[in-house]
Amino acid sequence: MINIAVTAEAGDETRVAVSPETVKKFTGLGAKVIVQSGAGERSRFSDQVLKDAGAEIAASASEAAGKADILLAVRRPSMETMKALKPGAVVVAMMDPFGERAALDELAGTGTTTFTMEFMPRITRAQSMDVLSSQANLAGYKAVVDAASMFEQAMPMMMTAAGTVPAAKIFIMGVGVAGLQAIATGRRLGGIVSATDVRPATKEQVASLGAKFIAVEDEEFKQAQTEAGYAKPMSEAYQKKQAELVASHIANQDIVITTALIPGRPAPKLITKAMVESMKPGSIIVDLAAERGGNCELTKPGDIADHGGVRIAGPINLAGSVPVNASALYSRNLLTFLTPFIDKESGDFKIDWDDELVKGTLLTKDGKVVHPNLQPKTDGE
Ligand code: NAD
Repeated sequence: MINIAVTAEAGDETRVAVSPETVKKFTGLGAKVIVQSGAGERSRFSDQVLKDAGAEIAASASEAAGKADILLAVRRPSMETMKALKPGAVVVAMMDPFGERAALDELAGTGTTTFTMEFMPRITRAQSMDVLSSQANLAGYKAVVDAASMFEQAMPMMMTAAGTVPAAKIFIMGVGVAGLQAIATGRRLGGIVSATDVRPATKEQVASLGAKFIAVEDEEFKQAQTEAGYAKPMSEAYQKKQAELVASHIANQDIVITTALIPGRPAPKLITKAMVESMKPGSIIVDLAAERGGNCELTKPGDIADHGGVRIAGPINLAGSVPVNASALYSRNLLTFLTPFIDKESGDFKIDWDDELVKGTLLTKDGKVVHPNLQPKTDGE
């Protein structure tokens, strides 16, 4: 029988890597789930609820980690927790592979095998394990709901005896998973929604959600998607044309939600100070790229900036503000990833090292950071 441990997250992190549902499922597969007391509290999964689902509650992180064959976490665990693990233990978390490299090397030095869920290959088989999607979807929803609550006007058009209330104009920049959900949420709330992206595939998606697509559709735009489905960094010339188009559109918007990201790079700057100054006082920008530097020049990550009455929110970890859903979906992503490696008969855990998803997410092994994306670049690359 294998032991799966879950420790409490540090700092402001509200999410947890387990839910009553995944405790039941892992237990059903023959595993024992050991959860640090209080770990689920901020996701409204009390010790009792987790216990009722079949978990064992441990008094401390080191007690839980010390018994673990597999440690599940939301964020990169602390060195203290890593050192408490048994030799040969496996950690599965969002390890922030591009962040704090020295700390990552130190962590690798413990000899633990770690998998980072952010690197889950974006193939059909792995859709149900894709933590970026499960969390971005909730973030896109919450960005619009938060913007609506900050906005001092109504969202839908209302025709009343006292006159007409106009619909809010909402502009979504970046139509990935978060952007698509933001469009859908903006439409549900009655806004007039437009959206932009550099990947041509998004044009049809935007239209199918009933929003207007706005983009510079030149030759570069037609090539802007990588095989993995992500955006490529755009040339300076493209960015200039894009900025001109956005500048004229943004001046008439009430709410702007930005989600534009390029993997492994700082967020592209799409909204300049001058563009913010062209917007009406009372307008709201929610910058979902804040954690990676922001899509707006004036974004203050983790804060709300006020520039001439235009408020720019730079939330970090918006999915964490709907922790009940975020934890439920995240822990289900982990369950789906690990299930094939747990033998239903014997309850043994055996990783298939040839599996594409294992290779894609393996971050550290045998004392080193082993992921190809994190190796020093050789000349000519
Ligand atoms: P992301 O978070 O990396 O980026 C968000 C969006 O920003 C992307 O749509 C990107 O094109 C856009 N962007 C980047 N630079 C921009 C710029 N200068 N101006 C405007 N927009 C810009 O993306 P994501 O949400 O992770 O999704 C990327 C793609 O991967 C989508 O097509 C999604 O459907 C696909 N996907 C596939 C799977 C799967 O098959 N398993 C899972 C999830 C997502």
